[in-house]
Amino acid sequence: MARITLRQLLDHAAENGYGVPAFNINNMEQALAILEAADSVDAPVIIQASRGARSYANDIVLKHLIDAVAEMYPHIPICMHQDHGNNEATCATAIQFGFTSVMMDGSLKADGKTPADYDYNVKVTRNVVDMAHWVGASVEGELGVLGSLETGMGEKEDGHGFEGKLEHDQLLTDPDQAVEFVKATEVDALAIAMGTSHGAYKFTRKPDGAVLAMNVIEEIHQRLPNTHLVMHGSSSVPQDLQDIINQYGGEMPQTWGVPVEEIQRGIKHGVRKINIDTDNRMAMTGAIRKVFAENPGEFDPRKYLKPAMEAMRAVCRQRLEEFGTAGQASKIKPLPMSAMAKRYQAGELAAKIGVTRQAAE
Ligand SMILES: [Zn+2]
Repeated sequence: MARITLRQLLDHAAENGYGVPAFNINNMEQALAILEAADSVDAPVIIQASRGARSYANDIVLKHLIDAVAEMYPHIPICMHQDHGNNEATCATAIQFGFTSVMMDGSLKADGKTPADYDYNVKVTRNVVDMAHWVGASVEGELGVLGSLETGMGEKEDGHGFEGKLEHDQLLTDPDQAVEFVKATEVDALAIAMGTSHGAYKFTRKPDGAVLAMNVIEEIHQRLPNTHLVMHGSSSVPQDLQDIINQYGGEMPQTWGVPVEEIQRGIKHGVRKINIDTDNRMAMTGAIRKVFAENPGEFDPRKYLKPAMEAMRAVCRQRLEEFGTAGQASKIKPLPMSAMAKRYQAGELAAKIGVTRQAAE
């Protein structure tokens, strides 16, 4: 079985200059669509489940779902990741259920909506890093709060996201603080705030540097060339998917996401994990709406879930190709978590601050 940790996968991505999309799952259809896409282009994948997904699908169902796809596709490295863990317990139980990686989002308090201070974030993230690294699991931290630079607002994703309005400086990760944070926590990957937000309504126009601060990524990458950066809320919200939904009775106001070429630019500057959920939700919804609009008499779930899976598979496959993930699966030999635990213990994976990748190797 080819389960892989986030750390090993992103180290490979950094060495070979590509990015890996992280797709969210809640059910069997999404798991199959992601793996079919990965298999068709020989790509490793990151599958992630939010707390909302875990309560929707049940931890035991998710565990066996991942076991099932790992057994079906033994040649595809699969990283199973907890999206937006809110405290130590969420991260610990994820690992208990077979996740190889967790995100401890200490930018918000455990309630998932109150912005937390820096010291709290360091403490809770460090706790999770200690626990996870003992067993070889990887940890993604977050510094800065995700939200729109246009409005100062956050968008809740499965109940996770701040309420109210924040100032610009809270919505942008400070590059110097990022260095301190990585040093203090030893996270394997760092999610940064630079104007992306969750959901479909990210931007009211095609984003430019004022609302999508790609320069923040470049500055952080300069200071932390060995830290894997993570872009959240990075669906592109393609026009054709908006159009299909609206053509078949949906009511989605015009919106813009993160253009793929901006993500590709990020990948040149240390972005290794790109979170995508909305695009897949839209692809499935558009396909289902089309079936219902064209065949109002249809009542067999397979008749609309199959086209939904096909539409999601197409989006996943496209992103795997656009981010350079395609063709990489067969080049990776996943290490078990026990081997990763030994590497942490030996100090091989300690954070390298301010050294260039070339100098570090
Ligand atoms: Zn997120």
